[in-house]
Amino acid sequence: MSARPPAPETLAVHAGAGPDPATGALAPPLHLATTFRHGPAGERIAGYQYQREGNPAQDALESALAALEGGAAALAFATGMAAVDGLLQSLPPGSHVLLPRDCYTGLRALARDVLPGLGIGTTAVDMTDPEAVRAALRPDTRLLWVETPSNPCLEVTDIAAVAAIARGHGALLAVDSTFATPLLQQPLRLDADVVMHSLTKYVGGHSDVMGGALVFAAAGDLHARVAHRRHLTGGTLAPFNAWLLLRGLRSLPARMHWHCRNAMAVARFLAGHPAVSRVLYPGLPDHPGHATAARQMRDFGGMLSVRLRGGRDAALALAGALRLFTNATSLGGTESLVEHRASIEGDAPVSPADLLRLSVGLEHADDLIADLDHALASSPGR
Ligand code: PLP
Repeated sequence: MSARPPAPETLAVHAGAGPDPATGALAPPLHLATTFRHGPAGERIAGYQYQREGNPAQDALESALAALEGGAAALAFATGMAAVDGLLQSLPPGSHVLLPRDCYTGLRALARDVLPGLGIGTTAVDMTDPEAVRAALRPDTRLLWVETPSNPCLEVTDIAAVAAIARGHGALLAVDSTFATPLLQQPLRLDADVVMHSLTKYVGGHSDVMGGALVFAAAGDLHARVAHRRHLTGGTLAPFNAWLLLRGLRSLPARMHWHCRNAMAVARFLAGHPAVSRVLYPGLPDHPGHATAARQMRDFGGMLSVRLRGGRDAALALAGALRLFTNATSLGGTESLVEHRASIEGDAPVSPADLLRLSVGLEHADDLIADLDHALASSPGR
């Protein structure tokens, strides 16, 4: 064996894998058991006791995710939001958290509807501007939350720069790296403390399983507290879902390669179209976060947003005229999706009304571009 550490592509295939010692099966065994035999005085026999506390499929997924992110430990959860909640609710009451101004709408709702009742205050800030981040710090700020690239405006935050600010303040830095996946970006290597993923998206990869994860730089007190809380509050990932997510992880590198290629082709096409006012994709050189993304990401991902000159009507007309892109929420699956985010954000939408978010799937880029071209021809913004 060479001393060279395995590349992420190799880790994705092999981390937490290997023939089952009992049968030689290459696919991991799936244990659905909720309970595991123990000794008369509760002595553990094979390491497990009760599924909510931990189970073999969840453990295998966690060790693979920790290896891919370069972390010391990982915790899997039933959904991405359970992972977010698992971390934020581990903060002591009276904590203040900085959140990004552009972020997944569920995080914003959590900050508005749930966290105040727990004594956790939040301030939304432009995380792409280190001065603004510094100015928003308070003596009680215990956590900085970054989402990069962000949902849905694809803002790119310099992880190392915000990590330095967090460290200088004695606060933690957590990064939602869902859009990037563990393949394209590894925030712990840029000095973040925790990485969060909605595994529902690219890791699952087929729009048929939910899950979330936190990966920790250190297996210390924070990890222990969040693990204890997950055990008691039941955010554990079901074994079959862990098994499906681990299977998804094995092909993540190949899928991400194709997602990125397709998204770049679609972004270039849209950027040259007269009905489009802006394409938000970090892979385009005129994107304000392009240089940072090029530095901290291996590629630019499969997500992009597009803003239409004709405003909301043009956006809705385009969403309605597309055939290959399905109108649906979520992202990261094999099929291309489109969504008018402002329409699904409830009474007080924050996404621009002229914006459509695209999850660029694994179809052929020529077909996706032909679909967009045809649908744009009927856009009232032309
Ligand atoms: N983070 C981001 C960036 C997301 O897009 C989502 C869901 O869309 C979540 C977190 C929440 O994940 P889940 O839906 O798995 O709970």
